[in-house]
Amino acid sequence: SLSLDVPFFSKSTQCPFCSVQCKIRLERLEEKNERPEISARGENNAASEGRLCVKGQNAHQHALSRERLLHPMIRRDGKLVRATWEEALTAATGLLASSSEAYGPDSVGVYGGGSLSNESAYLLGKFARLALGTKYIDYNGRFCMSAAASAGSKTFGIDRGLTFRLSDIPRAECIVLAGTNVAECQPTLMPYFNRARENGACIIVIDPRATATAAASDLHLPIRPGTDAALASGMLNVLIEEGLIDEAFIAERTRGFDELKQRALRQMPLSETARICGVDEQAIRRAAILYGSARTGMIMTARGVEQQTDGHLAVREFLNLVLATGKIGREGCGYGAITGQGNGQGGREHGQKADQLPGYRSIENEADRAYVASVWKVDPDRIPRAGVSAYEMMEKIHRNEIRTLFVMGSNPIVSNPNVSLVEEALKKLNGLIVADMFLSETAVLADVVLPVTSYMENEGTLTNLEGRVLLREAARPAPGECRHDWAILCDAAARLGSGDLFSFDSAESIFDELRAASRGGRADYSGITYARLRREEGIYWPCGEQESGSGLMFEKTFGHVDGLAVFSSPEQEEADAKAVSADYPLLLTNGRVLAHYLTGVQTHRSPTLEAREVANFLELHPAAAKKMKIRDGDWVQVVSEAGEFYARGRVTDKIREDTVFAPMHWGGIQNVNRATLPDLDPNCKMPGFKTTPVRVLPYAGS
Ligand code: SF4
Repeated sequence: SLSLDVPFFSKSTQCPFCSVQCKIRLERLEEKNERPEISARGENNAASEGRLCVKGQNAHQHALSRERLLHPMIRRDGKLVRATWEEALTAATGLLASSSEAYGPDSVGVYGGGSLSNESAYLLGKFARLALGTKYIDYNGRFCMSAAASAGSKTFGIDRGLTFRLSDIPRAECIVLAGTNVAECQPTLMPYFNRARENGACIIVIDPRATATAAASDLHLPIRPGTDAALASGMLNVLIEEGLIDEAFIAERTRGFDELKQRALRQMPLSETARICGVDEQAIRRAAILYGSARTGMIMTARGVEQQTDGHLAVREFLNLVLATGKIGREGCGYGAITGQGNGQGGREHGQKADQLPGYRSIENEADRAYVASVWKVDPDRIPRAGVSAYEMMEKIHRNEIRTLFVMGSNPIVSNPNVSLVEEALKKLNGLIVADMFLSETAVLADVVLPVTSYMENEGTLTNLEGRVLLREAARPAPGECRHDWAILCDAAARLGSGDLFSFDSAESIFDELRAASRGGRADYSGITYARLRREEGIYWPCGEQESGSGLMFEKTFGHVDGLAVFSSPEQEEADAKAVSADYPLLLTNGRVLAHYLTGVQTHRSPTLEAREVANFLELHPAAAKKMKIRDGDWVQVVSEAGEFYARGRVTDKIREDTVFAPMHWGGIQNVNRATLPDLDPNCKMPGFKTTPVRVLPYAGS
């Protein structure tokens, strides 16, 4: 099922999947049995140190898949049929323009992705705001990093995935991994943690499942989903009780600790926290003491903590622990939000987020608007104000407020919560335009499908989880009639009358404008050039013309105007709100598996990866399975208030008895998001993917 019809250069490139951005050496081998053979080897770079996981080893398979879209398509008489680029772009821009003329520019929405390169993400934001004049743009990273991003911004004044270098991890004496299964999601990072342990570090994992990461830890707290904020605040109380706080750091570098201490005095006893979290009281105490008494330490969170309706506050509770113990801004210390998507960090810095302009500038701040407008050479009033988040855009489509949608590098019909509403919404659109490599579940509904180049064929920069900007170069020309994302946007903008603002002839020329737009912003890329990236092994932001970042953040000052970090001290009464009921007695949580990525559009097209995990599954505890008369391997139906999905039961004692788990990589009736609820975190609009009350039934129709 693989094709090598297009010339292929042996080349160093980067894995298109997770946020480590491992370096790959691709080489064409002799043809065997008339089948193309490619060797993919890990090549040394500072993040991956030459390692590749199974996804990286097989990433070329989807790029060479015979299922790649090789020409544009237009819907005619209800069917998607082959079209020329002229026909497809005329149709696409016609749909966008007619919606705008009839209902105003905000009747058009743009939906991007966290795997787009920095250049594409930047240009998509500019395209939405200037070529279309709409305020409605957001992206799938809303479901990935928004809670950690908003928490980091409030606490530190800057949102940055890791506040330390990966190479510092072995220097930490205690590492808390909360809601992150690094062993499966970012496997090539595990040696850093193993090295820390060899150096005597203690690793604490907080997760409802006994994951492969938990198996490599010293202490596992199998927390009830949705109670992370309570657990972290309970740990803080122990730190205060035990005198394990850093008074000097708190006095010199933070504000808000007195309020937090007052809250701690009013707080429930630790035994109550333990009951709410479903974790042994002594284990919480031990975790707090191990972290608090270590000379150096790190806390890392990921989607387990963040994808909750109080994810923002939960992350801030963990950041309280970091600040209270002064474990940031020095070697072996810090906080890290482990990004999921390949460009999860860069994808949110350059303006495809509803409320942000390039350089992590605020779209509502007048000085930020004026600066970006000066780079774009337009009046600041031409830049629309903030729109709404990704799922809220789906609701607006459902209410006929958004009538035409342009999707680039995303599959919203699988990745949004409450899929039945999303499906209805997308079917209501007057126009749906999708730019993708494959006929994804979203693309099959489109009026116009635009085929784009893959990681093997396009050039651009990506920013890995530690804020290191890397240049990925093309390993072969575009197959068929595929075009680069940026070229499609420039062509469409010209047809919409904004060609003068989109006269780019390469990814590098877009990056040069991005650098200017980011200058002086919180994520400053102005000192980074393609020439430097070719010479050096990635460059950390912030990087102005005079100074390069070292990767270690907040050594002397935080990002707020006064240079201080800010404690958070909301009351904790709502911590037990994710109640199950007799109708929905179990809590459904979701996540990733090693072999697949996001909604599986790419990894399901890789024969090797697909063979490793062919159907969705539901992990459930033997006691729960016995109660429901489910045997290992049976098909099950999982039902919530929002809907239902189907999966194979996987009976395991590695999960809490009150919790079930399903991966997020399948569409159709196996899509876990048919059951997830549309409740959003009010602070960052992250859906509560990790806490859906459900019932599970044996499914006879297997
Ligand atoms: Fe590296 Fe992540 Fe790709 Fe695996 S998926 S090879 S860990 S970048």
